[in-house]
Amino acid sequence: MKKNILEVNNLTKKYNSKKVLNEISFKVKSGEIVGLIGPNGAGKTTTMQSILGLIEKNQGEIYYNGQILKKQKEIVPHISYIPEQPIYYEDLTLEEHLQFVAMLFKLPKNEYQKRKEFLIEYLNLEEHLKKFPDKLSKGTKQKFMISCAFIRDFDLLIADEPFFGLDPGSIKKLKDLFLKYKDKGKSIFVSTHLLDLAQTFCDKYIFLNQGEIIASGSQQEMNERIDFVQDKDLSLEEIFLKFIEG
Ligand code: ATP
Repeated sequence: MKKNILEVNNLTKKYNSKKVLNEISFKVKSGEIVGLIGPNGAGKTTTMQSILGLIEKNQGEIYYNGQILKKQKEIVPHISYIPEQPIYYEDLTLEEHLQFVAMLFKLPKNEYQKRKEFLIEYLNLEEHLKKFPDKLSKGTKQKFMISCAFIRDFDLLIADEPFFGLDPGSIKKLKDLFLKYKDKGKSIFVSTHLLDLAQTFCDKYIFLNQGEIIASGSQQEMNERIDFVQDKDLSLEEIFLKFIEG
């Protein structure tokens, strides 16, 4: 049986007195791709940033690989992250960022070289290697963030709207990269608004609305729960909209 790589229990986050996450609980198993789906403002980024310790939660526990997290920095070596908004140092080039991340995570030189060559070619970043991030287009900045996330080792990747700004070819490449890492036993927790795409690579989904989980499971499980259309295979978008509309 697959083990839980990530377990979130009763996670609550408030801004001022408003609960933007209300006691949410869910699990991600190893080798699984889980899609976090929800309308704008549902709390997807807040969920991801709370797990990563980038913002402080008000309540709840996070378990990584069966161990409760006391200090968030314990997970840094194990969890890679693609942020919703690109994060970088203005005065380091793309190549210097890759070197920096590799150094930070103690990646052996030959492994670094191998991964760099693969990612640069795969994501068509060759001509941008010596550029500063501010000079890159939106989609290229996104590919740059993806390359930083994949240059290092990880067991779990948290990806916050990673397809945003990518052209169709790059969207397909990122999806294939996710599937390749899943085959290696890695776990991916990904938020996206692209439901037609999500249903082609996610194993399970968590539907979040106004800080609450309104449904979760595989597409088939959620389809079966909408009892009046039991005999019909609905698309993920149709299922999501039915849950959102109650
Ligand atoms: P989107 O799909 O638009 O990216 P999201 O699901 O990622 O949305 P969050 O960014 O997690 O949503 O926001 C959840 C709620 O928390 C929203 O109502 C947002 O306005 C609120 N929020 C987020 N950050 C802050 C903050 N720093 N101060 C106050 N409220 C915040």
